[in-house]
Amino acid sequence: MIKFPFAQWLPFVNPVNFDFHCHSIVSDGLLPPEAVAQRAAANGVDLWALTDHDDLGGLAVARAAAAEVGIGFVNGVEISIEWKEIPIHIVGLGFDAADPVLGAGLDELRNGRIERAKRMGAALEAIGIPGVYEGALCFVTNPSLVSRAHFARYLVSIGIARDVPGVFQNYLSPGKPGYVDHRWATLADAVGWIHGAGGVAVVAHPGRYKMSGGDMRKFLDDFKDLGGQGIEVTCGSHSPDHMLHFARLARRYALHASRGSDFHGLIESYADLGKLPPLPEDLKPVWRLLR
Ligand code: AMP
Ligand code: MN
Ligand code: MN
Ligand code: MN
Repeated sequence: MIKFPFAQWLPFVNPVNFDFHCHSIVSDGLLPPEAVAQRAAANGVDLWALTDHDDLGGLAVARAAAAEVGIGFVNGVEISIEWKEIPIHIVGLGFDAADPVLGAGLDELRNGRIERAKRMGAALEAIGIPGVYEGALCFVTNPSLVSRAHFARYLVSIGIARDVPGVFQNYLSPGKPGYVDHRWATLADAVGWIHGAGGVAVVAHPGRYKMSGGDMRKFLDDFKDLGGQGIEVTCGSHSPDHMLHFARLARRYALHASRGSDFHGLIESYADLGKLPPLPEDLKPVWRLLR
């Protein structure tokens, strides 16, 4: 067999446009999975993962839609965890979506979301905004996946704030009246479920977490000890400084680098599908770990 001698350099000459973080109506995105696939293809994405929060219900449709529009597809999920009481998201990639342990773990996470949403409704009622749980449900597109984003959309619709970021700033972020503590999965649960299903675990948007440099290093030590392999370096919520910082941490911790827009819909996203800057060339892209 003749091997193309420069094959190993191809990704550098022509970087693969991969986007491994986005949402559909199966969680708190605004578009159905097939429309997300079409937008990814139109934006020049070569390799795409749908990563709905705590739910795999969109993957089969997404895979079929990706084949239809001629782009590569990888199973994805964004799992909600807490580490030292800090809410963190772990993206899983390339796993078997039929794995029963992963499925059962995600079922339990979604059940916990309903009870949490009721407490959020009660907390908002206590500051004089009644009916928000019921109102938020009108914005829910998957009955088993209620997110703060749905609360935010309802609160905008009744004029509590001008836009979704405004609601988060004043009502739904930690320390604000509509925020309630919640027990999510542990880091060991999420990484274990992903690995058990044959996938790769990736730290989502590390620049978003309110943690000190020391805590981030401890977190990455724990993540590595559990066998975690990836970190988002380029993502929709990262500034250029975040990108440089997490590129350094990817090198220091020998983590593969991921790239994901965290696209939720046309009007609610910081970045569009496939439109992020490329990864620094010396980093190993996480798609290389996927079979
Ligand atoms: P939850 O998983 O229910 O805690 O909701 C988290 C979701 O809320 C994120 O995935 C985003 O969709 C949305 N979100 C969180 N913070 C913000 C923010 N500051 N501005 C806009 N949307 C946000
Ligand atoms: Mn979301
Ligand atoms: Mn997230
Ligand atoms: Mn996300």
